[in-house]
Amino acid sequence: MYDPKSLKAEEFICHEEIEETLKYADENCNNKALIREILDKAKLMKGLSHREASVLLACEDPEVIEEIYALAAEIKKKFYGNRIVMFAPLYLSNYCVNGCVYCPYHHQNGHIPRRKLTQAEIRDEVIALQDMGHKRLAIELGEDPVNNPLEYVLESIKTIYDIKHKNGAIRRVNVNIAATTVENYRKLKEAGIGTYILFQETYHKESYEKLHPTGPKHNYAYHTEAMDRAMEGGIDDVGLGVLYGLELYRYEFCGQLMHAEHLEAVHGVGPHTISVPRLKKADDIDPDQFDNGISDDTFVKICALIRISVPYTGMIISTRESQAVREKVMKVGVSQISGASRTSVGGYTEEVRPTDTEQFDVSDQRTLDEVVRWLMENGHIPSFCTACYREGRTGDRFMALCKNGQIQNCCHPNALITLKEFLMDYASDETRKIGEAMIEREFANIPNEKTRGLAKGYVEKVHNGERDFRF
Ligand code: SAM
Repeated sequence: MYDPKSLKAEEFICHEEIEETLKYADENCNNKALIREILDKAKLMKGLSHREASVLLACEDPEVIEEIYALAAEIKKKFYGNRIVMFAPLYLSNYCVNGCVYCPYHHQNGHIPRRKLTQAEIRDEVIALQDMGHKRLAIELGEDPVNNPLEYVLESIKTIYDIKHKNGAIRRVNVNIAATTVENYRKLKEAGIGTYILFQETYHKESYEKLHPTGPKHNYAYHTEAMDRAMEGGIDDVGLGVLYGLELYRYEFCGQLMHAEHLEAVHGVGPHTISVPRLKKADDIDPDQFDNGISDDTFVKICALIRISVPYTGMIISTRESQAVREKVMKVGVSQISGASRTSVGGYTEEVRPTDTEQFDVSDQRTLDEVVRWLMENGHIPSFCTACYREGRTGDRFMALCKNGQIQNCCHPNALITLKEFLMDYASDETRKIGEAMIEREFANIPNEKTRGLAKGYVEKVHNGERDFRF
């Protein structure tokens, strides 16, 4: 019944295959010879299968775990260097017809104020985000065909791209909306979206149906097959995610890798990103009422194993996590983080962080300038780059760049150029000082001499007032 090439949810995310994989992982979690073999395969940096990765996840030997962390860090360095891409979520509407039991936007929540931004309000929010220095957004909406129809999403995307305020610009809009039709995905593609993001929440069908008791999201197959429809509609950068805390993490981990294998088998390209959200407290949601919360250590191990299993896939961590956890997961593979996020509708234009319409409590509440400085102090280059998608390097073309090792001649200089823009336009004096020194040092890590020369020239031009250069 298990068939990674099938287009039926229950065949490519096959429950029996997951159960058998978990049994196999339990039986082999102390099988030193097999574990050695899997680790050696992982060192080739071409990824692992869901079975292999599940054995490593089940293994609790501290020496093996240390080796996994070291290898994850090495793979991260090889494919992503020391760059961390920055983004912010923008909540457009919290109207929702679904009954998701873990989300405060659920339909039955009668006391949470419902709000949907007008185009003028979106403009104000985007200007506030541009004034912080953001160039990349992920728009977030509840599912509501009447209040949040696709036309509203499309109009909002156009509004966002059209705003030119001082030197600000949003150059990539990623979209996190409910599963929809091929036709609608085609319209999103035409609107120029970056990644289409849809969290699976849980791959466990029975739990999925209980956790989504009412509304269109109840349909497990329609939700699970959404990425196939998105790709059929022409979107080739899709982002997966499991909401850790809802189901057993080993089940989810295995299911998610099977999903990645399925996309690769059917469309020839795996997920562009994997997000790793954990369930958080929010309005009428208490995470303690869910039995499957995971410790920070397990969470870091999952991140490291995702990095090893799908080396070319970007990994995203949000401000759901604290500064301390974010530091740990960036070491073992996370390549993209949000900063200065407000998870409430209209939150960026409020003086004080509003909490009444927040989707979840934000752990990391620092400003973007503070986050950028902290990244640099920890040896990471904050990157505001959006070049790939603007140059048409999406899907398999981006993966090809990754696979032939050219990322260091492309993403690295782009990171330095966009960091320079941030330093010139938005940074505090202290951040600027640290950043200028970092850019000077990091030129040396552009391998191609000609590219290095060009990159220095572009940074100089940004210094002199010009903007928006890219490789
Ligand atoms: N409504 C869209 C959908 O149906 O997929 C997605 C937008 S929703 C604003 C983004 C994500 O937030 C959800 O997919 C879910 O995983 C996550 N989320 C919901 N409640 C959460 C909570 N209490 N803690 C952490 N994340 C949560």
